[in-house]
Amino acid sequence: MPYAIDETHDPNLESWVESANDPETDFPIQNLPYVAIELQDHHHGNEPYCDTGVAIGDHVLPLVPALVEAERQNMRGIADPWKMTNNFGRLSAADHVAIRRALSQLLAKGNPSESVLCDKLLHGQSSRHYFPVHLRSQPDTVGAACLHDYTDFYASVYHATNVGSMFRPDNPLLPNYKWIPVGYHGRASSVVPSGTPIRRPSGQLSPAEDGGAPSFGPCKLLDYELELGVVMGRGNELGSSIPIGEAEDHILGVCLLNDWSARDMQKWEYVPLGPFLAKSFATSVSPYLVTMEALAPFRAPAMLRPEGDPKPLPHLFDEHDQAQGGIDITLEVLLASEQMRDKGMDPIKLSSGSFKDMYWTIAQMVTHHASNGCNMQPGDLLGSGTVSGPTRGSRGCLLELTWDGDPFAKEPKLVPGTERTPIRLPTGEERKFLGDGDEVILRGYCERDGYRRIGLGECRGVIEPAAT
Ligand code: MN
Repeated sequence: MPYAIDETHDPNLESWVESANDPETDFPIQNLPYVAIELQDHHHGNEPYCDTGVAIGDHVLPLVPALVEAERQNMRGIADPWKMTNNFGRLSAADHVAIRRALSQLLAKGNPSESVLCDKLLHGQSSRHYFPVHLRSQPDTVGAACLHDYTDFYASVYHATNVGSMFRPDNPLLPNYKWIPVGYHGRASSVVPSGTPIRRPSGQLSPAEDGGAPSFGPCKLLDYELELGVVMGRGNELGSSIPIGEAEDHILGVCLLNDWSARDMQKWEYVPLGPFLAKSFATSVSPYLVTMEALAPFRAPAMLRPEGDPKPLPHLFDEHDQAQGGIDITLEVLLASEQMRDKGMDPIKLSSGSFKDMYWTIAQMVTHHASNGCNMQPGDLLGSGTVSGPTRGSRGCLLELTWDGDPFAKEPKLVPGTERTPIRLPTGEERKFLGDGDEVILRGYCERDGYRRIGLGECRGVIEPAAT
């Protein structure tokens, strides 16, 4: 099993980078997430170029000098650091374990590399220059992981049932839901790093309930979706597939993902081919790619399927995946309106849920995606689908959160057009959907007794008024 708990997860480990020892940090030495960094120096004619680094406390250490030092210290499994870095997305799971062990040793308190590496540390003040994966291909990142493709799944049965109940009260879950991890192809070009402002989209808006013509104009029902992003490492050849028992070896790590959604556009356009322009105007991702190795202590069983649900087909069923395919990551959404920020008020928490409540595991999504011979490539991004849990406080989008229906209640109230209760902000403002100037903040972290807390950082975006 590639992602075992080892000495790198020791909760007593400390780093010579002091900010990594702060109990509040998301990035202690037990985490070591990757970031794609944009640098500029005279070796590259002062043109910006991309490189890979590792986040530690408030800093980022570029991978090349770290691996050069690891090779100099004869650390196990580290050879030819430049080649390793340039083929980063294609490395084996064993290579990734070796790199994690090397980085953990190099950054540990007392390692002699401190004097060599402390000058190479970058200060992490400008998150706009950090991405979880190189977003656009550049000559300098040949072989490294670049985002080519983006697919979004729908893996929470709570989200699927809530949303299905609004559109189809008598038939919320379609017959395929419990057999295949449903997904659609998203748009890679509009994936943007955390902090990028989000322009309110315009489009064809759903006609009123009594029929008639749609209108064209700025979206009135703008929403976020709280999701986990999964970044692919080693892919598969066109025509081949990825067995479920090996699926996690093909994953580089996870980040936070906000699948911004225009509900009035979505309602009108989604039949029969699924979401299109309601989603493709923007998708935000957090800068840090938390590795599967770092997540080892926080694994959980796959969601227990209720009595009567079908067992997955054999190609999507694996004993180990059933036992350990879930991940207990707490995922939260916070909101601050422009007025709140102007008045210096803290953002309010809208919801909190856990990724372990997803109906489909990451391995099942990856295996399903490649099961027809579709080739996955290093850097491909998969969204998990909105992470919603069984309670109202764990609903991962406003479409569900401000909706008064509950298909899971003892006596479900499933009338079409069920009322919405607005969320009251501390300024007295109310929200059923997002307003201009609203900032949405996603956060994620893992906690377990006996282990150091690690975090995924934040994914932020402020809504800008529609273009005129
Ligand atoms: Mn989504």
